[in-house]
Amino acid sequence: MSKIILTGDRPTGNLHIGHYVGSIANRLALQEQGGFDKFYIMIADTQALTDNADNVDKVKNNIIQVAIDYLSAGISPDKVNIFIQSQVPELAEITMYFMNLVTLSRLQRNPTVKDEVKQRGFNSSIPVGFLCYPISQAADILAFGTTIVPVGEDQLPMLEQTREIARSFHNTYGKEIFPLPEAVLPDNKACHRLVGLDGNAKMSKSLNNCIYLKDEPEVVKQKVMSAYTDAGHIKVSDAGKVEGNVVFTYLDAFCKDEHFKKYLPEYANLDELKAHYRRGGLGDVKIKLFLNNILQEFLEPIRSRRKALEGDLDAIYTMLFENSKKARAVAAETLQKMKDAMGLDYQKFLKK
Ligand code: ATP
Ligand code: MG
Repeated sequence: MSKIILTGDRPTGNLHIGHYVGSIANRLALQEQGGFDKFYIMIADTQALTDNADNVDKVKNNIIQVAIDYLSAGISPDKVNIFIQSQVPELAEITMYFMNLVTLSRLQRNPTVKDEVKQRGFNSSIPVGFLCYPISQAADILAFGTTIVPVGEDQLPMLEQTREIARSFHNTYGKEIFPLPEAVLPDNKACHRLVGLDGNAKMSKSLNNCIYLKDEPEVVKQKVMSAYTDAGHIKVSDAGKVEGNVVFTYLDAFCKDEHFKKYLPEYANLDELKAHYRRGGLGDVKIKLFLNNILQEFLEPIRSRRKALEGDLDAIYTMLFENSKKARAVAAETLQKMKDAMGLDYQKFLKK
């Protein structure tokens, strides 16, 4: 079976460190491993419009931002096809045929959609397009014969629904045309759903609790210093909680033993630092400054590549449009296979 990778992001803002650890890091690893037949990264503008219908400019202007974030994080356009969802209109047609295979109650049960509906305050006025985005996501994945989807944990219900739709298509039309895709989650559990700076939910563009890959050094520092730690840890001498403490969660995601040698040599590793915090006698400022050093070191090369890329936006747009054409040809082939399986072949009614 061929190995086809597809993943994507909504152009609703710049990418943040949650995206990096949850999905970009795995994309970079897969890119370096090689051995795949095709690797697509889709900028999901159509999906972003499902909850931004009145904010087209935001979505439109963030396409280039997300593309720059990818390239500056190290995604190589020579190895990966980065394309724009709306430039592949076949995806919308595939979505239409899939809609007939999914019930309303199944959509309403999707736990990620449920969380997002609550988070966005839709109450009972949920846009139909938003409720259906898992179906359009299934179309994105299946249109390219995808076998591997590197994503964060919030996407697992989407993958499950995608496999259900593929099976349902096969059962309904009697032809197996789609491979069943698998999600690839980060090895490090702290990265599955990185919490936001406020400690309440996942880091998310829509919740304004992010450290962005493009944030300037002073902004990163200020955000780190404001991160939620442990409300009961008031004096340095107090015993502190590590679980649910945002600074320790980010350290779990980003800290390596060599960081201690460089920035905090009195500890050998993170376990020692955690033990001291739990015992008491370790202040929040110290752990925050340590985290700040680690994040600055990680973000600096990404930021400087971004500055260089910002000088030639035309080259990036051209790459996106060319890649969208190539993606379109592949999606059109899948759509034709679907129509053949469904028996949607009206040409046969012509006498000659
Ligand atoms: P929005 O608020 O607009 O939904 P988002 O921050 O949730 O934005 P998406 O574009 O929806 O970002 O997600 C893109 C990818 O990044 C998905 O694979 C998702 O699982 C992953 N991801 C997003 N946020 C996190 C996070 N905090 N931790 C781990 N992975 C994440
Ligand atoms: Mg999201």
